[in-house]
Amino acid sequence: GLLGAENGIGNGLIAGAKIFKDVDEEYVSSRTRLEQVLADIVGENEAEASFFAMDVAEVYKQYDQWIKLLPKIKPFYAVKCNPDPVVLRILAELGTGFDCASRNEMDMVLSIGVSPDRIIYAHPCKPSSHLSYATRQGVRLMTFDNADELRKIRRLAPDAQAVLRVSTDDSSALCQLSLKFGARMESTQTLLETAKELGVNVVGVSFHVGSGCTDPNAYSDAVRRARVVFDQARELGMDLWLLDVGGGFSGSKQRDGMPFPQVAAGLSVAVDEYFSEFPSVQVIAEPGRYFAASAFTLAVNVTSKRQIVKEVEESQNQVVNSQKNYMYYINDGVYGSFNCIMFDHQKVYPEVLVCNTAFVYTAQGLRATETLPKYLSSIWGPTCDSIDCVVENVELPELFVGDWLVFNNLGAYSVCAASKFNGFETSRVYYFRSS
Ligand code: PLP
Repeated sequence: GLLGAENGIGNGLIAGAKIFKDVDEEYVSSRTRLEQVLADIVGENEAEASFFAMDVAEVYKQYDQWIKLLPKIKPFYAVKCNPDPVVLRILAELGTGFDCASRNEMDMVLSIGVSPDRIIYAHPCKPSSHLSYATRQGVRLMTFDNADELRKIRRLAPDAQAVLRVSTDDSSALCQLSLKFGARMESTQTLLETAKELGVNVVGVSFHVGSGCTDPNAYSDAVRRARVVFDQARELGMDLWLLDVGGGFSGSKQRDGMPFPQVAAGLSVAVDEYFSEFPSVQVIAEPGRYFAASAFTLAVNVTSKRQIVKEVEESQNQVVNSQKNYMYYINDGVYGSFNCIMFDHQKVYPEVLVCNTAFVYTAQGLRATETLPKYLSSIWGPTCDSIDCVVENVELPELFVGDWLVFNNLGAYSVCAASKFNGFETSRVYYFRSS
């Protein structure tokens, strides 16, 4: 089951050997269904370590959907969301651009052969050394949202193609990025004038409606704001040609967030409506979660368990009933892959993979455990800290030490920010292709 060119990952779009060149110590299954893959890995993985099963087909499916529903908007994958080398290689081969936030991210993308003109350095506040690195590498497209950054760009990146990031109303998003970045609309005129005085080449406008956006009107309102800036620039004799609609698109299996087809339809209408007078505008986006979330399923092992018996009393202090609750301890937690609960405000949903040594997971949603009695349970990460609680309240059949749980849709803002706090290793990734 080890990787090799014969796996043909990518069905001709990419030869398997090419994608996995740098990760060839990893296991790649040619089995097709998630549950088979999970059973396979659990079977081989006697050492109990938690792991991600990454389905490369999900990235293709998402790309396919993007080009069908937003054919005029070129995606620049937000590397920060999950810089997994396989995700980067697939997207590089498919021809997307990349949104990089730092020197290391630019380095990662450049080192797999992506040309610098496919990168946007989309951080409005850049350390000087990172900016100089971008200049040396020929990365010219970059965002700014304040006058000091413009001066820095003039000094360290005189050939930059600067993109003015405006703030948005992101009050309904999981992560409100406009608290930190984005020029307010009152200041865009002055910023354009300053850029003109300094001789910085402003080429476009960007925004981010907030990660995990739930407001259907957020994109259209932000596109309207961008149009205001295009008009201001035109008045100043500056010809803008780039509109960057940022990220905020939900992943395919996400329970929360707006369905992508609905967002894509609204966004397309807004771009057509507000930019009809700028027919040669090029539109790009910076999706992160959209590409990464659904491809990754995390499997964790129940390493310990504690039973709590709650006695329910009648008025005369007579015990009439006792309820069994369970606390389960697993080997990844909020200091690891589940940091997304803290930082990304994600909700995570456990499903039983192995119960009492029997494999019970089916990807169709039918569980062999459905007929078993359920108990109120909580799920805790491996560290000694009590903040390390993954799920506070969930009904589960009784699990045993050595059993496994899975969490779907865990590819965004998870493993990339995981720590080894308390000495616990981060979960490794196994790759497979479901279709
Ligand atoms: N672009 C920028 C500048 C960001 O800060 C982020 C996320 O923080 C993204 C794109 C990706 O956002 P999402 O994963 O919601 O698509």
